[in-house]
Formats: sequence, structure tokens, C-alpha cells
Amino acid sequence: MDLNTELNKISGIGPKFIPKLNKLGIKTAKDLLWHFPFRYDDFSKISPIAELVPNQPATIHGVIQKIGLRRTFRKKLVLVEAIIVDETGGVRAMWFNQAYLLKTLKPGTQANFAGKIIESKGDVYLSNPVYEITSSHGISGSISGPRHTAGLIPVYPETRGITSKFLRFILKPILSSIPPIEDFMPKEVLVKNSLPEINSALKKIHFPLRAVDAELAKKRFAFEELFLLQLNNLKIKSKLAEQKSEAIPVDQDFLDKLITDLPFILTNSQKDVLHEVLSDIQKSRPMNRLLQGDVGSGKTVIAAIAAILTAKHGKQTAILAPTEVLAQQHYRTITKLFKNFEGEIEILTGASKQKKSLNDKIESGQTKIIIGTHAIIQKAVKFNNLALVIVDEQHRFGVEQRASLLKKDKGLGVLIPHLLSMSATPIPRTLALTIFGDLDLSIINELPAGRKPIITKVVSPTKRMEAYGFIKDQILKGRQAFVICPRIEPGTKDEEERKVLTESQQKILDLKSVKEEYERLSKKIFPDLKIAMLHGKLKNSEKENIMRDFQDKKYDILVSTSVVEVGVDVPNATIMMIEGADRFGLAQLYQFRGRVGRSEHQSFCLLFTDSESESTQYRLDSLLIAKNGFELAEKDLELRGPGQFLGKEQTGLPDIAMDALKNIELVKAAKVSAEEILSNDPDFSKNPLLGERFKQFTQNIHLE
Ligand code: ADP
Ligand code: MG
Repeated sequence: MDLNTELNKISGIGPKFIPKLNKLGIKTAKDLLWHFPFRYDDFSKISPIAELVPNQPATIHGVIQKIGLRRTFRKKLVLVEAIIVDETGGVRAMWFNQAYLLKTLKPGTQANFAGKIIESKGDVYLSNPVYEITSSHGISGSISGPRHTAGLIPVYPETRGITSKFLRFILKPILSSIPPIEDFMPKEVLVKNSLPEINSALKKIHFPLRAVDAELAKKRFAFEELFLLQLNNLKIKSKLAEQKSEAIPVDQDFLDKLITDLPFILTNSQKDVLHEVLSDIQKSRPMNRLLQGDVGSGKTVIAAIAAILTAKHGKQTAILAPTEVLAQQHYRTITKLFKNFEGEIEILTGASKQKKSLNDKIESGQTKIIIGTHAIIQKAVKFNNLALVIVDEQHRFGVEQRASLLKKDKGLGVLIPHLLSMSATPIPRTLALTIFGDLDLSIINELPAGRKPIITKVVSPTKRMEAYGFIKDQILKGRQAFVICPRIEPGTKDEEERKVLTESQQKILDLKSVKEEYERLSKKIFPDLKIAMLHGKLKNSEKENIMRDFQDKKYDILVSTSVVEVGVDVPNATIMMIEGADRFGLAQLYQFRGRVGRSEHQSFCLLFTDSESESTQYRLDSLLIAKNGFELAEKDLELRGPGQFLGKEQTGLPDIAMDALKNIELVKAAKVSAEEILSNDPDFSKNPLLGERFKQFTQNIHLE
């Protein structure tokens, strides 16, 4: 047997297990070995039943007094239910959908059971415990008597029909019969970081004797991935450094005039960042910069100045926004700020009527600044001489995405555009060093003068009318308000249709909808105010008109879905009211709140929720107390993991690496080792196995 041996050739794996294993992504011996436990149950620490603590994992040693089958009321689940007793008391254990357990577990069976103690509706039970039978003849001898259970028991991610017990049963022989694996990790890297080599790491991650062994093995596998990530960053950096971009000259007098003509004075932080960006684009090496700045810190103007300088030099800039609404806003902002360039700035929308003539203007190079959504620009445009790409509200824009714009460039093709991406969601430090490690960072760390912290409150349902009164006051003072709803259309109220749904599905149906709230607010609550609604189902031209009119103060209140989540800038709006706040993630709530507090007026964020769940409370509390976006981003990393910062796509990184992305020490160590290897062995000729593994790695990850 070797790593590539297929499942059907491995003894102990019957044909019925193969499709089930395939479902877990397991096809070969190697896949099995790399299917790691996610926790270990310690059978060596036995708790007396009388001392069990709810919501904690525990292992007990006892005798099954009674065991039987039960169906849940909806008849979908089969429950195996047992009463287990020891000398101190008894506890119920429940297994879901594992009827076969009745064949092995019988009244009188003595075993260790490990699982979590669940407390529900005044009752306490051990949920889905793993077990090791110690004797099947009732209590014999003392509870601390001999056990065949030694050390830690690995618990694996499971699917129906593949239990941890089964995996332990087949993994043990594979581990002992597989020939030694050659380690792709360079020895010096392992030694330097005190990490075990591959063969011992594999044994210890599956069958550790002590917790520290398991930890160390896990650390090794996590380190591997971080190390590969760092190699990837460094490779991207050095590849970019070899490429050429258009050097954009900066005419100081022209720049000074642009800045003095602005309707406001740049903050020091904006000036610093502008300087960083401009010194990058003056070089013939491609800029690869991420500009981070809190919501409302004034990133747009920085991007716009870079674009204008590029236009002045006769070259093109593409500005990519995540939504149509935002693209339209950028178009309005930039044409307003830089009136002299109006004729050279165009917006590309899905519905652009004069598309043909517009495309001609872009292709001929007459249009210098092209604003649109990603989709539109990437699909429809042939540039003449694209020299700068600005990506708004996105952390990262991949090398390949950049290249795909190039193919549409009629220019020489050897020059690649400079890249500036902008985001209000700060990246936690560990992520900045890993998945975003190929980017240079600029940070705007102050808000324009005179901004007041936004007053944020969770409003209880009983205070709703009071809140409306408050909103009315603000509007009478000349301000405007957003009302965010989680749905566009109201959910069905048909009892028949609802009957088949679960409670949580019904809750979703009852969430506030834009259409209903719009009706209710304009007819019942604020009949004398001007109210508009906005959502993704409207036509682009309708969205554009509504946003423009809201900005021009033709409406007092905008009832909207999350289409206004990012980027929208209406400085006169001072109230952000969020319905169903528990439906939104922390980063999203933060973005919503960032739509207000954009002027010298005091702003307010009012959160409405019916949910009393702990996680909702925690999330909303985090929003109330977080001082800045960085703190919040760290919170979000903790609560929802790194996926949050990478978008919804699968990253291709294994869970073990995703977890390790939070470990700053490990991240730094991996970076140092990657730098050392690349400086000694840039093409992996001394480490061919590493070279191969690295190639695989880059093919499988998607961090864009
Ligand atoms: P974000 O960083 O969230 O993209 P914007 O670029 O939309 O922020 O700017 C937010 C608001 O602040 C805009 O109305 C903009 O005109 C204004 N603004 C930007 N810079 C300054 C400044 N230095 N002083 C005052 N207002 C500014
Ligand atoms: Mg913005």
C-alpha cells in the first residue's frame, strides 16, 4: 500500500463505505491520512456523573441501565436513548440516527462515554457520546479499574455512516503499513521551528498519547500551509517587481492646484497616503497597494486624484465599484470635484444606451476615466492604454483579474496597470501578513475634522414609536434618514404555506420588508414626509434617480435593502435605522453605520431586533463598544473566521490553516522561513519536493 492506493484496495473498507468517504472528499489512502481529527476526547479523565457540568465536554465511566429506540415527533429522526449510571448517579445519553448502536450497547454494558453535556428545557443529557466498551457484564470491580482505553481518542468530522470509530479502525493499519513518506518541508525549516517531520506528525495527529503531541503535530500541518502561503506572497511580489507599468509623472503645480481647489482641506493622513500612492505610480514598477481607511475617512478623493493625474498624462484609469449605485455615485462625485475633466470621464452601466459610441471613445483613448461595476468593465471594454486600476470596497484584486483587463487593452500589452484597491474593512494583522501579504498597505487613520462619534443604540421593540418621534425631530431639523430592511418583499402570510416551514424559516418570512415598510412609513407613520424606497430589483436608471434625488434632499427617508451597505455617501443623512439587525454580520452592520456620521452633524445608528439570542447580543454589543474598525475586524475574525474577509468563495485552504491564520506568532515564523528559503533557493532546485507541493498549492487556492 502507498499514498495513492485507492479505497477499494484498502482492507476494512467495504463497498458501501466508499461513496460515503468520497462525499468527504476522500478517495485514496493519502486523503484518509490527511483527514484530521478536529478534537480529542480524553478518556483518562473520568468525571463522576453527579459532578457533570452543563455545556461542557466530559467523559464518564458507567453501566448502561436501560437503552432503547425512540422516534422524534416529526418522525424524521431516530433517537437511541440510554440511561447510564455510576456510583454517584445516573444520566441520560442520546444518539441521533445511529440505531445500529443497539447491536453493541446493551443493558449491562460497561463503557467510557465522552461527549458534551447539553442542557435543554430543564433536562440534562449527554449528546452523541463516543464510547469505548470496557466490559459487557455489568459493574465489575471498581470504577477506576482496568480500562483498555489509553490516551486520547481522535474525533473526526463525520458524515452519515462514517463514524470516528470506523475511521480510527481503518487508519491504524494504514499508518503502520504505509512506507515512509518523504517530507517536502525543508529540514532546516522544521528544525528551526521545532516541528515534527511528516511521518511522526501523521502518527501523532491521529493517535497522540499526550495532548502536547497532538498539538505539535497540528502545528506542523498548520505551519506548512502558512509557509506555502508566504512563499506564494513572496513569489507574487517578485514576479510583479519584474513587470513594467506606465510611469505617471506628477506635475507638482498641477497637483497643488487640484488640492487647493478641493471643497475641503485634506487630512494629514490623506496627504500621507496620497503621497504613497503617487510615489508608487511614478515608478515603472506596478503598484500593488491596498488603501485602508475607516468608513467616511475620505478614500475616494485619493483615488480620484491619482486618476486625474493619469488622465493628465494621457492614460486611462478604470474605477471598479461593487454595485451600480456606488459606480453612479463615484461618477457624480468625481465629475463634480474635477469639472475640467468632465468630458474625459464616463460611466459604463449595464444599460448604457450609446454603448457602441461609448466603447468607441474608450477604445480610441478619448475617454480617460471609466467608472463601472466589475462585471461590466471586465466584460465589455477594450481599453486603449489602461495604466491604473482602482478597485473600491474590495481588499484584493487578483493578478489574474488584472491580467484579464489587459487582454482588452489595445496598447502594447507589455505594460500592466498599477493597482489601487480600497477597503473600509480593516484587515486583522495576521491576515495582513498572510493572505494579503503580497500587498503594500496604506492606512488613513483619522477622520476629517469635526466628525462626531456616531451614537449607536439597540432599541427595544416597545420604544419603536419613540424612535420614530426622534427621527421626525431630526428630519424637521433638516437631516435625512436611512431605514434598512432585510427583505424586499414581505414573506407569505398563507397559513398553509407556512405550516411546512420550521420556526426559523417562518421568522425569516416575518422580517421587515422594504415594500411593506415603505407603505407603512409613508401612509401611517410619516404621512407628511417624503419617502423613497430602493432595492436591487429596481432598474438601474430608477436606482440612479432615487439615489441622486436622495442626495439632493428631495427625500427625507430612504427605505432600502443592503444595496446601500457600502460606499454610499450622503453627508446630510444622520440616521441609520436598521430593522432585523440580527440578520446582518458585524462587518455589514459596521458598513451600514458608516453611511452616517459623514458631516459635522451628530449622527445616530438605531438597531432593531426581536432576537434575544446570545450571539446576537454579543454581536450587537461589539458594535456598540468597538472604538474603530480595526477592533471590530479582530472581533469578526474571532466570531466568523477569515472567510469573512475573503468573500463567500471557498479559499481552498484546509481548516487547519484557516484556524492558524489567527496565530500571529506562527504566521510571523512562517514568513521568516519562507524568506530564508526563497533567498537560498529561489527556484526550488535544492528542494524539488517543495517545488512540486508549492505548484499544487498555488493551483488549489483562491484568495481573490
Ligand atoms: P470613504 O473613505 O468611506 O470612501 P468618502 O471618500 O466617500 O469616504 O468620503 C466621505 C465624505 O467625506 C465625502 O462626503 C467626502 O466629500 C468627505 N471628505 C473627504 N475628505 C474630506 C476632508 N479632508 N475634509 C472634509 N470632508 C472630506
Ligand atoms: Mg468609499
